[in-house]
Amino acid sequence: MPKGIYKRKKGIKYGMTGKFHSDTTKRKMKKSHKGMLGKKLSKKHKEKISEKHKGMHTEEKNCNWKGDKASKGAMHFWIIGQKGKASEYKCKYCLKQARDWANVDHTYKRILEDYIPLCRSCHSKYDIKYNNINHTPYTIKNKI
Ligand SMILES: [Zn+2]
Repeated sequence: MPKGIYKRKKGIKYGMTGKFHSDTTKRKMKKSHKGMLGKKLSKKHKEKISEKHKGMHTEEKNCNWKGDKASKGAMHFWIIGQKGKASEYKCKYCLKQARDWANVDHTYKRILEDYIPLCRSCHSKYDIKYNNINHTPYTIKNKI
């Protein structure tokens, strides 16, 4: 009886574990895992993922930049580079010394004719007028 009990314990503890985690099964596991990692998740997969991510990120960034503050800032520098400083011109409305370049339709396109020199007061009036008609007010006042 005691021999049988000992045999059963040995059989369960060492025999079972030895069989299920033997070298052959370990090798099979490793091979299957390596196969998965090596083939499916390597170059092609990574390239696809990276391409998707790149596309998403660049598009999103560009959209944000074009549609938001940076476009105004960028175009402001662009128009200064093209026409010079607004302070070198006279205000289009009151003929005082201009201070800012105002965009006629607020689309901030790369069209020289769309930018007019305005003095401070005319610019703010112009923007307020425009904003009241077409847009919810934004903080160009803080910029001036
Ligand atoms: Zn003016």
